[in-house]
Amino acid sequence: MLIGALEAGGTKMVCAVGKEDGTILEQVSIPTSTPEETMPRILEYFSSKEIKALGVAAFGPVDVNPASPSYGCILDTPKIPWRQFDLLGSLKEKIHVPMGLDTDVNGSCLGEMTYGCAKGLDSVIYITIGTGVGVGVCSGGRLVHGMLHPEGGHVLLTRHPEDPNGGICPYHPNCLEGFASGPSIEARWGKKAVDLKDNPKVWEIESFYIAQALVDYIMILSPQKIILGGGVMHQEQLFPLIRGKVKELIGGYLNTPELRDLDQYIVPASLGGDQGIMGCIKLGLNALC
Ligand code: ADP
Ligand code: ZN
Repeated sequence: MLIGALEAGGTKMVCAVGKEDGTILEQVSIPTSTPEETMPRILEYFSSKEIKALGVAAFGPVDVNPASPSYGCILDTPKIPWRQFDLLGSLKEKIHVPMGLDTDVNGSCLGEMTYGCAKGLDSVIYITIGTGVGVGVCSGGRLVHGMLHPEGGHVLLTRHPEDPNGGICPYHPNCLEGFASGPSIEARWGKKAVDLKDNPKVWEIESFYIAQALVDYIMILSPQKIILGGGVMHQEQLFPLIRGKVKELIGGYLNTPELRDLDQYIVPASLGGDQGIMGCIKLGLNALC
């Protein structure tokens, strides 16, 4: 059985066809320019495939509540042409199969829980640290939505004493995304994150922010595993720094088997960048039940 997968990102739309076991048979990438340019190409791709369902994981904010009148619409995104665009509606007009929708980060969380390093667990968070910061949350086997969906990139943090400029989020002077996204690193140091590998101060400050946020997520959500993905997390030296600071900030207050083995608790994404698109396969499969 073939399942369609659409990972709708702010820079590109990845369209793929895969199987129930998560195998991706083919995929194409279409630039996210405007709905007028981008949507016809997505519709053409999926119309020509014999898919039985389609799973969509979208950049946000996006309405993921099936009971809402604006279900499937992109909401107040900074990407102006996509504001209030009815993504799911425009897919449904041309493609007549059951569809599942969630946020991009919930999709990646689901991909790792179904096919990757979080198989068998029921409470997991997936964090992407890239152009923005997003957090996908699964609690007790359910992807969490609540009133909209979690926006864990905007949790408020204490500023590092040696961070001269603070954060760049236009909404919050001291949130995780404003402090720690790829563009924030670039704004702080005047160079792209990838070119700062050999400057330890960069990663000291970066890990200080990420660890604070993780401790907040741990205290509130009690996840069984924390997965970190996105471009910035290609800097592998961050992992031991983050684990060390998480341990320190927890301050011995919690003592669980997971926290005694932080190398297995705070981990990189395991599906080689395919966690999002594989999560879409599972969203599609779930829409069939
Ligand atoms: P997006 O968040 O747009 O989906 P990415 O997760 O690739 O895409 O994030 C892009 C951001 O990550 C950019 O700000 C870029 O500077 C940063 N980035 C990409 N690759 C690396 C790397 N190897 N090391 C550090 N930062 C990186
Ligand atoms: Zn913010």
